[in-house]
Amino acid sequence: MARISINIKEAKIEKREIICGIDLGTTNSLIAFVNKETGKAECIKEDGKNSLVPSIVHFEKSGSPFRELAGKQEQGKIIVGSIAKQFLITDPQRTIYSVKRLMGKSYKDVSGKENYFGYKIIDEDEDKLVKIRVDNKFYSPIELSSLILKELKERAEKVLNAAVKKVVITVPAYFNDAQRQATRDAGKLAGLEVLRIINEPTAASLAYGIDTKATQEKTIAVYDLGGGTFDISILKIHPENEGGIFEVIATNGDTFLGGDDFDRAIVDFWLQKNNLAEEKLLEDKSLSQSLRLKAEEAKIFLSNNNQFESQFCHAEHFDKLSTSFIEAHPDLNLNISKKEFESITQHLIEKTMQCVKRALKDAKLDANAIDNIVMVGGATRIPSVKKTVADFFGKEVYDDLNPDEVVALGAAIQADILAGNQKDILLLDVTPLSLGIETMGELMDVIISRNSKIPTSAARQYTTSKDGQVNMKIAVYQGERDVVKDNRKLAEFTLNNIPPMPAGLPKVEISFILNADGILKVRAKELRSGIEQSIDVKPQYGLTDAEVEKMLFDSITHAKEDMNIRAVLEAKTEAQQVLQSAEKFLKINTAILSEEEIAGVRSHMNALEEVLNSTDKDLIHLKLDELNEFTQPFAHRVMDSVMLEAMKGKKI
Ligand code: ADP
Ligand code: MG
Repeated sequence: MARISINIKEAKIEKREIICGIDLGTTNSLIAFVNKETGKAECIKEDGKNSLVPSIVHFEKSGSPFRELAGKQEQGKIIVGSIAKQFLITDPQRTIYSVKRLMGKSYKDVSGKENYFGYKIIDEDEDKLVKIRVDNKFYSPIELSSLILKELKERAEKVLNAAVKKVVITVPAYFNDAQRQATRDAGKLAGLEVLRIINEPTAASLAYGIDTKATQEKTIAVYDLGGGTFDISILKIHPENEGGIFEVIATNGDTFLGGDDFDRAIVDFWLQKNNLAEEKLLEDKSLSQSLRLKAEEAKIFLSNNNQFESQFCHAEHFDKLSTSFIEAHPDLNLNISKKEFESITQHLIEKTMQCVKRALKDAKLDANAIDNIVMVGGATRIPSVKKTVADFFGKEVYDDLNPDEVVALGAAIQADILAGNQKDILLLDVTPLSLGIETMGELMDVIISRNSKIPTSAARQYTTSKDGQVNMKIAVYQGERDVVKDNRKLAEFTLNNIPPMPAGLPKVEISFILNADGILKVRAKELRSGIEQSIDVKPQYGLTDAEVEKMLFDSITHAKEDMNIRAVLEAKTEAQQVLQSAEKFLKINTAILSEEEIAGVRSHMNALEEVLNSTDKDLIHLKLDELNEFTQPFAHRVMDSVMLEAMKGKKI
C-alpha cells in the first residue's frame, strides 16, 4: 500500500504548553508570554524589574588571570545583556552589538559602514555572508543572535519554571527571505522551535488589540523609532470575517537613524559647549563611550524633566584618560535643557517624517486615511517625537503600552493563539486538502490548492447558466476528487438578488481567504452590481489526521477513474450549455432563418440530446462538434457577443 505523508505542521500542539514571543531587537531584546491566570501578555522581567536585555554579546578574554590562578584553562565565558553592555567601553573589540544589522548580509552589503561597528567584520569573500572576528574565532550573525536567544530562553525558563521550546520571533517588515531564514536558523541553533516569524508592526498592532476581531477594515501606521533604526509601516487589517489578515501595504524607514542619533546630538552639543574638538574625543574611545552613555541618560531624563545637569569629572575617569587630555581640559559641564535638546534633535524627527510621507505616498493614502497610529520603540518616549507624529496625523497616537515591550507582547499573543489557547481551532502551516466550489456538472473547481501556504487567498470569476438567473448557489468543498460528491462539503450559501441578466453576463467573483488560523472565508460578489454575500468556514475542523490521509489516498487511487468522470461530466455540461444556447438562438432568430436551416439545427440538437447520458465523452464531443459545425455559418451572422459569452466560461 502506498504511503502518503501529509504536511500538517503545528497541528499537534499540546494544550497548555507555554509558547513565548520574542522581540529580537537591534538594541534590546525581550521575551514575553501570556499569563494563564490573567490572560494578559507580560514580558519576562529578571528580578521583577527590567524586561530589556541589551542585544550585546561579550566574549570574556580567554585565559583570564583569575581562571589561570584557579588552574582552569577554559575558554572565556560568553556574557549577554546589560553586563555585556558595560564592556562596550572597556573591551569594544570583544563586545558585539547591533548584530541584527548583519543578519543575512554579505560583506558587500555592509561595506562603507564598517566604522559603525566597534568590532571586526571579516571580508574573506565579498559574496559570502559576513562573519565577526573575536580573537581568533569567527562567528556568524546567526550564531551571535542565537546566543541572545539562548539567554532569553534561559531567563524565561527560570522565571516561568518550565521548559521553553517553542517561540514566535518578530522581524522588521522589510526583512527579506534570507534575513527571515537567518532569524529562524538562529532560533534553531538556540534550541528553539520557531513556529512563526511575524512582522514587528503586526505584533505591535496585536498588542494594542487592533486585530481581526474588528468588523471593519482598518488602516494602521506603526511608527517604530528604536535605538539605531527607524521603521514606518502602513498595515491594512482585514477583519476576522474577511480572513483576519494583516497586510503590509508599505514600509519605509532609515536603517541608520534612531535613539543613538539623539545621544550623539547631545554629545556634540556638550563638546561645543566645552570647546572640545571631536577629534580629541575620537582619540579616546572610552571617553567617547562614557559621554555617549551620559548623553543617553540625559535624553531619557529629559523625556520626563525639563533640565539635565551633570559633570564629567576627570577624577572619576583618570584611569581611562590620557594625561595629556586631563592636563589640557578642565572638568566638563554636562548640562542640557529640554528646549536645547528639542532644538538640536528636531532635524532627526523631521527625517523620520520624510519617511512617513514616502510610505503614505507608496500606499497611495492621505494622512487622514490612517485609523490608528501605534508608537513603538524606546525613542518614541521623547515627547517631541510623539507630538510631531500626532500633529502630522491630526490624531492621538497609541502610546499606553510600554513602547519597548509592545512588539514582544504582540509576539506573545501570537504565540498564545498558536498554542491553541485563544480559539478552539486546529492550526496549520499549509492547507492539507484543496478547497473549491461546485461548478456545473457537479464538478469540483479548486480555488486554493492543497499544500498552499497559509494565510493565502485566491479568487476566480464565474457566471450564470440561465437567462435572468437571480440566485446562485455556492457550495464549498474540500478534497482532491474531481466530482464533488466524493469530497467533503463544508458549507453552502446563496448569492441572492443578482439583477436579471442574460446567462453568462453576470460576473460573479468567488474569493477564498484562508487566514493563518485555518479559517476560510468565502465571498461571492457580482461585480457588475456589487451585491455580495459571504460565509465563514472552518475547513479542517473535525477532521482527524487519519481522515485527511484517507481523503488523499482515495484521490490517488481514484485519480484515473476521476479523470474519466470529469471529462464526461465536462462534455455533458458543455453539451447542455450549447443546447440551451441553440434553443435560445432559434427562438430569437426564427425570422431570419430558413425552415431548412431550422430543421437542420433541430436534428443535430436531437442527436446530441440522445448521447447526453452516455459515458463516452468522445461520442458527446462528436455530436457537439457536428451541431457547432452545422450552426456556425449562420450563427456567425446573428449571434451577439452575449451569446458567444454564454457558450464560453464556467457556470455554476
Ligand atoms: P530596538 O528596537 O532598536 O532594539 P528599543 O525599542 O529598545 O530599540 O529602543 C532603544 C532606544 O530607546 C535607545 O536609543 C534608548 O536610549 C531609547 N529610550 C529608552 N527609553 C527612553 C526614554 N524614556 N526617552 C527617550 N529615549 C528612550
Ligand atoms: Mg524594536
